[in-house]
Amino acid sequence: MPDIAANIKRIHASLPEGVTLCAVSKFHPVEALREAYDAGQRVFGESRVQELLAKTGQLPADVRWHFIGHLQTNKVRQLVGRVAMIESVDSERLLRLIDSESERAGTVSRVLMQLHVAAEETKFGFTPEELIDFFRRRAFESLRATHICGVMGMASNTDDGERVKADFMRIADTFRAIRTDIAPDLRGFDTVSMGMSGDYRTAIECGSTLVRIGTDIFGPREY
Ligand SMILES: *Cc1c(COP(=O)(O)O)cnc(C)c1O
Repeated sequence: MPDIAANIKRIHASLPEGVTLCAVSKFHPVEALREAYDAGQRVFGESRVQELLAKTGQLPADVRWHFIGHLQTNKVRQLVGRVAMIESVDSERLLRLIDSESERAGTVSRVLMQLHVAAEETKFGFTPEELIDFFRRRAFESLRATHICGVMGMASNTDDGERVKADFMRIADTFRAIRTDIAPDLRGFDTVSMGMSGDYRTAIECGSTLVRIGTDIFGPREY
């Protein structure tokens, strides 16, 4: 059994100031999350709506839940208002739906736009070009109940450290271009979510402000 509390404390101590830890607790039982909570962890990441909703009621109310999986449009209504952040907005259609459901629910959703830069073809998300086009068109201006807080992305699943670094740099460069050149008036656009158990140190070197770590905290998942 992994020593969850020790892992949380070790990772917290190793993160530079300004980098937040999202503990990815998908597929792990509520007892494991409680151990992390008791060690001081407050941000938890889940990738399935049903699992997240089942867990929210069983942990204290000051937990900040992040949704990090592919969000199906028919689950948006259930999720809106229940999470601190939806990190995985992978299409404009999904963004519009989150916005209309948030307005309907009388809440404001905080989201990250998911970038696809990895070699794997099955991953969801905007290419850097698509996302830059989205901001150039100022498509965010018509949002009424959604706040775009930054970007999220994954590196290729490979042992090639140079490729991983290049992927993270592409995510960070896209973020910086949007923030400084394309939409400098967009307030609160300040989050770069990248880095998982195997590559978060590299991600931080490349400018990550939010790392999503599961296995290094909770041990391997049993699917
Ligand atoms: C599962 C998952 C993680 C955590 O991966 P680990 O390798 O277990 O740290 C991070 N981000 C996303 C989007 C995930 O789905």
